[in-house]
This record gives sequence, C-alpha cells and structure tokens, in this order.
Amino acid sequence: MKLFPIFADLQGRRVLVVGGGSVAARKVRALQEAGAEVRVGAPDLEPELAGQAADGRIVHVPGRFEASWLDDAWLVVAATDDREVNAAVDAAARERRIFCNVVDDAELSSFQVPAIVDRSPLVLAISSSGVAPVLARRLRERLESLLDHALGPLAELAARHRPRIRAALPDLGQRRRFYDWLLDGPVAGWLRQQQPAQAEAELQQALDRGWPQQPGSVVLVGAGPGDPGLLTLKALRALNEADVILHDRLASADVLALARRDADRISVGKLPGENHDATQARIHALMAEHARVGRRVVRLKGGDAFIFGRGGEELEFLREQGIRYEVVPGITAALACAAYAGIPLTHRDHAQSVRLVTAHCRQDEDTLDWDGLARSHQTLAFYMGVGQLERLAERLVAHGRAPDTPFALVENGSRPEQRVVAGKLADMAALARTHQVHAPALLIVGEVAGLADKLHWFGSTAG
Ligand code: SAH
Repeated sequence: MKLFPIFADLQGRRVLVVGGGSVAARKVRALQEAGAEVRVGAPDLEPELAGQAADGRIVHVPGRFEASWLDDAWLVVAATDDREVNAAVDAAARERRIFCNVVDDAELSSFQVPAIVDRSPLVLAISSSGVAPVLARRLRERLESLLDHALGPLAELAARHRPRIRAALPDLGQRRRFYDWLLDGPVAGWLRQQQPAQAEAELQQALDRGWPQQPGSVVLVGAGPGDPGLLTLKALRALNEADVILHDRLASADVLALARRDADRISVGKLPGENHDATQARIHALMAEHARVGRRVVRLKGGDAFIFGRGGEELEFLREQGIRYEVVPGITAALACAAYAGIPLTHRDHAQSVRLVTAHCRQDEDTLDWDGLARSHQTLAFYMGVGQLERLAERLVAHGRAPDTPFALVENGSRPEQRVVAGKLADMAALARTHQVHAPALLIVGEVAGLADKLHWFGSTAG
C-alpha cells in the first residue's frame, strides 16, 4: 500500500488553502463541511470566496504566498494554477512537517483527498493512490447508486443506541444478528420511508421485547419497459438485495441480469389463455411463502406495478397477511414508448391531457367512455390493444374522432428490437397487419402521434 488511509478530525482546526479561484472554493467548501477553520491565502478571491470572507466564514490572507501563512495550520491545500507557487507551498509545508495536498498533483502532495460517498456518519473514501483518478471516480459513481441514502440515518441511529444495544445484548453473536436485523428489517424500511420516529420506536421495541427473527418482506418493483437503463436506483438496490425474485414475462432478461446472482428467480408470467386468477393466486401464495421464512422477496413487474399490473391487489393481500412491503415505481410503457418513439404525450399545440386505457377484451371496451375518448386534443395510450385494433379504430371514429387522427404503434418499446408503425386511424388495422405488429405493443392515438415522423431517434421506423 503506497498511501496510508486516514480520516482526519478537522473540527475547529485551522487549515490553510492557498489560491482564490474556483478550485480553491471547492476545496474550502469540503473543508468547511468537516468543520475546519479555513484561511484562504491569495492576492484576490473569486466571488463566492469573497462573499465568505465578507461574512467572516473564512479569513482572507491577502498577497503572494509566504511560509509564515502556515503558522498554526494543521493541513494545507495548494490550489493555485501556478506550479511554482504550489511547489513553494509544498516545500514550506515539508519543512514544518505539515501535510500538504497540491490539487491534481500527486507528485507534490504529501496527502491526497479521496473520492467519497457520503452517508454520514458513514463515509466511504476511494483512492487510486493518485494513479487512476478516473477509475476512482467511476467506482464512486457505482457505489453512490448502490448505497441507499437511508444508510446515513441508520448508522446515526445505531450510534445513538450503541450503549443500550451493548447492554441489552452482551453476547457478540447476538449483537451481530441484531445489527443484521437493523440493516435488513423494518428499521431500515421506516428510514427509507422518511419515518425516523417509527424507526426509533421499532428499535426501542426490539431492545425491550426482542425482535422477530424473520424480517421477511416484499418489494414491489417496477422494472420499466425493458431498457435496463430505465431502472430506478431503488429498483437496482432491491434487485441487489433480493433473496427471491418473482418476475413477470415482461420483465426483461437485461433487467434480471442485474439482480443478485444467487437470488432464486421464479417466473410467474401470465400467458394468454391461461386462467389469470389462478396465476394471481399462485403469485400471492409464493410471496407469502417466501416472506414468511424471512426472505427478501422482489416482485418484479414490467413497467409500473400500479398501471395495469395488479399491484394494488398484491398489496391488499400482503396487508391482510401482515407482511411488510415497499413499492418502487417503474417507468410505465406509455411513458417509455412515447419517449423512445419521439412522441411527446402532451404538447401545447396538440394535446392537453393523456389517458392510459386498457383495451384487453370486449368487456373492457364496453365499460369505456367512448364519447370522452373520442374528443380531439388529447392523447390516448392503449395497453394490451394489439388484438383489437380494428374495433378500437371503429369505435373512436363512430364516436366522433377524425379518421385522419394520427396513431403510432410501438412494439417492444425501448428494447433493441423496437419498431414503430405510424399512420392515420382509418388505416391502423391494415397497417398493423401489413407490418405484423405483435405484443407487447403500445398504441398511441392523438395529434401528438404525428410528431413521431419528425422527432424519432431510437430504433427503426416501419410504415
Ligand atoms: N405494468 C405495465 C403494463 C402491463 S400490461 C406497465 O406499466 O407498462 C401489458 C401491456 O403493456 C402490453 O400489452 C403493452 O401494451 C404494454 N407494454 C409493456 N411493455 C411494453 C413495451 N416494452 N413496449 C410496448 N408495449 C409495452
């Protein structure tokens, strides 16, 4: 190891920053976050630093660098664009045995500032010993997206209760299990839900009365339309922590590939023609079975769980069973298909509202408000509609929508094989037949669909 990692306590300690430009300002901010008393030595200060000096938050030492500026300093940071000045700072610091960082100059520096992921009081510092800062930054980005923001408050809570935890659980093994429970169970859940008081109460109760050994839970995760880049950070984290993943057919292989490797994957997709209620009952049973034995279950659904995904029913079931759950929204097909086909769902000139509609079967169609749907200047996004294009077009036109209203059918939206078939409502069924459009496909009807021709940017456009 070339460098020895340390975390320095700078509370109330004087640190000198040499340089008055934007790089210096950035360093000053970081030092202030750690509570340092910062002096800035430079002929002139950039506006932010000048403001800080005027408010007395930093002390400005004007002029060119002098070794005496280092008096009483614990650390020094040289952030000028003049290598000679930086070298002089470094030399003076060495003489006084004060650690010196020269920004972006590993050779002159006697200490380096790592890339950090801040979940205070938990802080991760990453160093490449100055040889590959880009790599360190990349790693930081990865960790930043993996580590939940609730970790900070969780560490803080645990620190506050540490004496009580030690007293209540003198055995080390028992304490470990408690901390596992703290990280994986309801306390972390409450913090993720921004409920610190509940988290604290849960922890207190666990110390007083013991905690359940099986903190199983279900996270209902929206997997988006297929492009794994459209997953949320929370979805990625849930996939990383899952013991079991119950996934739909629509959850893409690329998304599943991001999940924890040793998680059990169970496909619970509904097939056309299958008894959907039986499948749904099986999904409920699987969720309960795995959560009850303490597993973290991810129920992964295409798009968003609450848009034609029966997510509501699954939550009602979990609530009845007293199983803890969280919901992570996903990008629903209408949003993704529109974006990836270059169709703004609303547009000041063309559409003032959007409706998400299911047109699965005749029964669905009969309950729809066709007069409302046929009005102009609104966008309709039909889910599960490929099988009924003929009837959909007929009904819309019969209720007054213009036969030349633009439509776009987006097949496999956001996936590499995406295709868009666009045209006028009157020709829709024929065009879809010609191009053999298959599920999953989303139908967008409305003036905005006409923009696809001009604004498309992704994949191929047929018709
Ligand atoms: N919960 C999902 C919708 C499930 S219903 C969501 O929020 O997106 C299934 C229907 O969604 C399909 O019949 C199709 O109309 C649409 N759909 C889902 N993924 C799609 C994709 N990648 N491309 C086009 N349509 C898609």
